[in-house]
Amino acid sequence: MTPAGRVELHTHLEGSVTPARLILLAEKYGQPGLPAALLNEDGSAYRFEGFHGFLDAFKDVTSLLRTPGDFYAAARDLGGILKADGVSYAEVSLSYGVLLKRNIDPVTVQSALFDAAAEVGERDGVTIRWIPDAVRQWGVDAGWRAWEAAARAGGALGVVGFGLGGDEAAGPAADFADLFAEVKSEGFGITIHAGEMPAMGRAAVDSIRQAVEECGADRIGHGLAAVQDPLMLATLAARGVFVEMCPGSNVRTGGIADWSDHPLREILDAGVPCCLNTDDRAMFDLDLEGEYGRAAEYADLSPEEHDGMQKAARKAAFHECD
Ligand SMILES: [Zn+2]
Repeated sequence: MTPAGRVELHTHLEGSVTPARLILLAEKYGQPGLPAALLNEDGSAYRFEGFHGFLDAFKDVTSLLRTPGDFYAAARDLGGILKADGVSYAEVSLSYGVLLKRNIDPVTVQSALFDAAAEVGERDGVTIRWIPDAVRQWGVDAGWRAWEAAARAGGALGVVGFGLGGDEAAGPAADFADLFAEVKSEGFGITIHAGEMPAMGRAAVDSIRQAVEECGADRIGHGLAAVQDPLMLATLAARGVFVEMCPGSNVRTGGIADWSDHPLREILDAGVPCCLNTDDRAMFDLDLEGEYGRAAEYADLSPEEHDGMQKAARKAAFHECD
């Protein structure tokens, strides 16, 4: 590990809500059935089956994040967890699409997150910046409302980029091309979940193409399907489009069957800048230390390659992170 600590670029605040915090929130909102439905028997870890099971669980977690104070607490928890995991800089996503759907004002929440990040910086020495995102299957109009709120919050509240998440099969990135043109013109970074589900076949590769060619993505979340098309890999390498790889997440959601099936080695050897991330560290029960350990075990990631990934991640960050 570099003395400054690692960088993590793909992690969602909602997926970082610990089982302990979930239990507290469920008590607060009179939802005793939720921890029982979402957690294992001793309440120490989440349980769900497959990608849609995960999306449903994610939705249930978000239903308990209601006030700025709830988000503040979740962000403060995350700061301590990142410190314990040796992370010194993280860009954390939050779904403004979900907030708007639940009639929660994203800017008020962002203000609380900004305060939490300041406290985390001081307490834990961890720098957190924020990436609001839109939910692709809810359509372009909802996407624009999420972006408008993100622009209102802006750099003054720690926003450094804008993203697109959700169900790729139900929301083509190309629909959001005009929105991302504006994101870019306003000077914010662009990261789009794409190619997360290789089982989509050619459509998964096309999803990456749309993100890169039509939306101008600086970074791709997951990008597993890129290895199905040598030309796509070459394009990512030539343009320096960064891939935020999340192997443990892919195993948990069924994107790949096993860690050893992750195309990390092919992506790295193709010269595509990339790093490892936990995606939803609490919900998947992952940390970055474990992910890099498995990369060494399953993909022969050398210490030099680890350092190279971290250097590339620092370069791909949407904010200065040294
Ligand atoms: Zn993600």
